[in-house]
Amino acid sequence: MIKKLSHVGIAVTNLEQSMKLFSGLFQNASTGTEDVKDQHVKVGFFQLGGTSIELTEATAPESPIAKFIQKRGEGVHHLSFEVDDIHAELTRLKREGFQLIDEQPRRGAGGYWIAFLHPKSTNGVLIEISQKIEE
Ligand code: ZN
Repeated sequence: MIKKLSHVGIAVTNLEQSMKLFSGLFQNASTGTEDVKDQHVKVGFFQLGGTSIELTEATAPESPIAKFIQKRGEGVHHLSFEVDDIHAELTRLKREGFQLIDEQPRRGAGGYWIAFLHPKSTNGVLIEISQKIEE
């Protein structure tokens, strides 16, 4: 079951500058940055009520964020919805006809399993589903 909007992902070219910009916008300190090495990105989070904003900078040219910015420039990249059982949701969404980018969840930032749906099957919106990793 989809529980809530977990975060909005924004692609940026310079995380440090964007962290300053958004902390001025939100008047709120970030909850820090994190390197997600296998996805070649560096992310920063801002908590806003029950949801958050995730700023993402590419750390290598083969990163999907680098390709996104090259094609479309900086901006909103994806919406992430938190689910209670990511495996069950992937099975359900596939059965509903959504195209999966990730057949299996992978480790994302902030202690979550994540998987993306192809924007071709969601009206052009890149959707991520996520589940908190229990450890
Ligand atoms: Zn995300």
